[in-house]
Amino acid sequence: MAEPERRAFVCGHPISHSRSPLIHGYWLDALGIEGSYARIDVPPAEFAHFIQSFHAAGYAGGNITIPHKEAALPLVDSRDEAAEAIGAVNTVWLEDGRISASNTDAYGYATSLDEEAPGWDQSAAAVVLGAGGAARAVVHALKTRGISDIRVVNRTVLRAAELADQFGGFITAHSWDALPDLLSDADLLINTTSLGMAGKPGRMPDLSDLPDATIVSDVVYVPLETPLLSAARARGLKTVGGIGMLLHQAAPGFERWFGKRPQVTAELRRLVSADVERAG
Ligand code: NAP
Repeated sequence: MAEPERRAFVCGHPISHSRSPLIHGYWLDALGIEGSYARIDVPPAEFAHFIQSFHAAGYAGGNITIPHKEAALPLVDSRDEAAEAIGAVNTVWLEDGRISASNTDAYGYATSLDEEAPGWDQSAAAVVLGAGGAARAVVHALKTRGISDIRVVNRTVLRAAELADQFGGFITAHSWDALPDLLSDADLLINTTSLGMAGKPGRMPDLSDLPDATIVSDVVYVPLETPLLSAARARGLKTVGGIGMLLHQAAPGFERWFGKRPQVTAELRRLVSADVERAG
């Protein structure tokens, strides 16, 4: 008898912008898997019911995106270490009748740097711009890979201080005014703010103080080449854009729902990049 079709989803509100269906659809085709990946708009008032009933509706699991990532945390039966540390969930699946959850953004970020800037984790000092959800994933990735001097810089310093308190260790919180000092010996500069996103102009850090060997990365991927990445490239610095994080964070979920580990290929990267360029 043929295996029943496996089904997964991405849920958020709104959800029309999500590129996850493009990524998972590519992998389903590439691996010849009889499966589907649906885009589902779930308003906040319906989210708890959605999570508790996705299995009865025939789904093996799925991705959770804005604005539900934090709300999912108390609704699942078990969370891995990354979801606990980041305080948000982006992947759920059913295991022995229980809802399990992970946050794969830190894995996605670290893997994209492994691919595009090998040796990045030998950095001594990192400056992280932003203190929101993406910053928490990036800080978790840095900490997990042994980078201890992490300087979190945020417009709202209190939010940076809360993040530093929660992660502990050598993580410090700073205002934008402190950037010239903080950048002068930074090995890594990472933008996790929505600054530089299409339609969101704002003050960018001055890169002239950065050492020549600094790696500059931006988790924003719309546009593919953000103003920060352009400025870093113009200075001759190594740069890493946000598309690799987007692609790699998707792989663990796909394996959970469909049973095969997918590859982040050059073809997939071209496909998703072209889609971003069309939209941007
Ligand atoms: P978030 O939780 O809303 O945090 C937004 C951050 O941006 C906060 O630190 C905020 O500072 C800062 N910010 C916003 N406008 C600013 C401005 N004009 N000047 C200075 N700082 C400003 O958002 P998020 O979930 O972390 O997402 C941030 C970005 O990361 C988005 O562009 C998202 O698309 C991208 N992202 C990419 C990936 C990927 O896979 N590549 C994954 C996740 C997120 P305050 O605290 O002061 O408001």
